[in-house]
Amino acid sequence: MKKTKLSDIGEFGLIDLLTKDISIKNKSTVYGVGDDAAVINNSDKQTVVSTDILTEGVHFDLIYTPLKHLGYKAVVVNLSDLYAMNATPRQITVSIAVSGKFSVEAIEELYQGINLACDVYGVDLVGGDTTSSFSGLIISITAIGEAKKEDLVFRNGAKDTDLICVSGDLGSAYFGLQILEREKKVFEKDYNSQPDLSTYSYIIERQLKPEARKDILETLKINKIKPTAMIDISDGLSSELLHICKQSETGCKIFEDKIPIDHSSTIASDELNISQITAALNGGEDYELLFTVPLKDFDKIKGLKDIYIIGHITDEKNGKNIILRNGETVELKAQGWNNIKN
Ligand code: ADP
Ligand code: MG
Repeated sequence: MKKTKLSDIGEFGLIDLLTKDISIKNKSTVYGVGDDAAVINNSDKQTVVSTDILTEGVHFDLIYTPLKHLGYKAVVVNLSDLYAMNATPRQITVSIAVSGKFSVEAIEELYQGINLACDVYGVDLVGGDTTSSFSGLIISITAIGEAKKEDLVFRNGAKDTDLICVSGDLGSAYFGLQILEREKKVFEKDYNSQPDLSTYSYIIERQLKPEARKDILETLKINKIKPTAMIDISDGLSSELLHICKQSETGCKIFEDKIPIDHSSTIASDELNISQITAALNGGEDYELLFTVPLKDFDKIKGLKDIYIIGHITDEKNGKNIILRNGETVELKAQGWNNIKN
């Protein structure tokens, strides 16, 4: 593959190259890339904003992360935060710091993933910043969205007896990461090894190319269900549920046997000798939604595709507990991944 040095085209050349094909999709995007700032018009709606920063070596490992997937994921994790507010993402800005080890073509690959996510989720890339770095790649994305005031869902609205629901399945992104890390170690010992990872394709995809659950919000809307509290699961179910309980001043009771776990996670769990419930509670990066709905909505929510009722909210004095398969009650602890402690 052709490798053009970044210094051959310079900062402005790179910005031009990365932004020349952008076409605007949303009417709220008044002005995108090209001036000192972008202009957005949300008229009577609330504007919802969220930012994330991803650092090479801390949040991603380029040994097994294709740049296109990385670009896609960097966008998706931000959009997931806006969906967790029940808002609709409309614009993003992308800021990158790149070291000399990256070619122009490598950064274009990153942007292919960014642009793909923008197409899939209908958002406009309206700006960003480009600078150099001595320590690999840093990507910071800001997502901007809109919501009607009455549609916004915060973490603090859960009430005693509300049903606790999750989408999709939990723990698979964590198992995907463990498989990738294992194969990386094999590869470091033997550069000729060509692992067959096809049995793990689902969990690896969940790690490398996650999706944000826009579809779940649509399902809830069609069925006239408005969650009382919601959060996206980026640090593990335990940690996120504790956030909801803390901010809502409630307790909770969830059931191990209700937590959705994919069959391929069960297989990986046996093989890696890591408990699947630990991965589901404490693994990270599922980007599923965790939300609570009033008990009166039980008939509406039960049986909805890809939504699982895993327990209910309780009074704060009852504590925050999980009932294991053997009937034992265990206190939920936040053991979400903390990059700073690692
Ligand atoms: P300024 O000097 O005012 O910061 P820049 O030269 O950095 O302006 O940016 C010029 C335009 O290109 C702006 O609209 C900015 O938002 C956009 N831009 C800069 N870097 C990126 C990037 N990595 N991705 C997308 N847009 C970018
Ligand atoms: Mg700039």
